[in-house]
Amino acid sequence: MSFNVSVVERGDNYIKILFDGVPLQLVNAIRRAALTEVPSIAIADVLFIDNTSALYDEIIAHRLGLIPLTSDEALSKYRLPEECVECGEVEGCEGCYTIITLDVTAKEEVTTVYSGDLISQDPDVRPVSPKIPIVVLAPGQRLAFEARARLGRGKEHIKWSPATVANVTYLAKVGVDRSRCVLCGKCVDVCPRKVFSVASNGIEVDESKCILCKQCVKVCDYEAINLGWYDDKYMLYIESSGALAPERIFLEALKIIANKLRNLYEEVSKLGGYVGGS
Ligand SMILES: [Zn+2]
Repeated sequence: MSFNVSVVERGDNYIKILFDGVPLQLVNAIRRAALTEVPSIAIADVLFIDNTSALYDEIIAHRLGLIPLTSDEALSKYRLPEECVECGEVEGCEGCYTIITLDVTAKEEVTTVYSGDLISQDPDVRPVSPKIPIVVLAPGQRLAFEARARLGRGKEHIKWSPATVANVTYLAKVGVDRSRCVLCGKCVDVCPRKVFSVASNGIEVDESKCILCKQCVKVCDYEAINLGWYDDKYMLYIESSGALAPERIFLEALKIIANKLRNLYEEVSKLGGYVGGS
């Protein structure tokens, strides 16, 4: 199998990867693994010491869970509870979690508690952004708690998914039949992504911008535009919550799929003669 994988765009928190010659099923498996299998660290339990704010403990705990925490180091430092040889429980042991605390009291003024107020025992595990509001305290109100952050996977709860978006798209194939095209320019005007432009020798096309909305096909009176997609090219887009770098999410997803296949192979090999394992 000959294939080509290349990064076509890398932004602050996203990556666009072009797969050429890789089956769609495999690209989709990577996408799914990025969302549900790649671990990251998030707050799992909260012990409230004092909460006189307007929000219930449960609401605050839920909000805390959704704060993305830096997970780059955590992946090697901590163990997933189900994989922990020490405890093997969701309860967790020292190797499974880190403690994050907070104690804020609003004195004379209304005070907003932000993710930046969280104090983590582990400097490698901290909020991705310090500006995520947790609760607004009226004068005299206090919020104090001790929370435990542990590794988890998106399939358990979406707060553990390091990818906020992961999608696979087809790549558009746009053809203009020059024998039919009269250079009326209607497609140029109607296209929301500016795929077409008029050049001296005909209509020029930039396929990479096309979102397959088909407006050009509808507006063309001469049936000069052929719109389709490539059968063997797909674009994988991964956007990160900030917990892990997008390329790390991609690589971890691949690693997880490879491990699953290896485990499957080993199990199937045990069947011996039935499947001809070697
Ligand atoms: Zn443990």
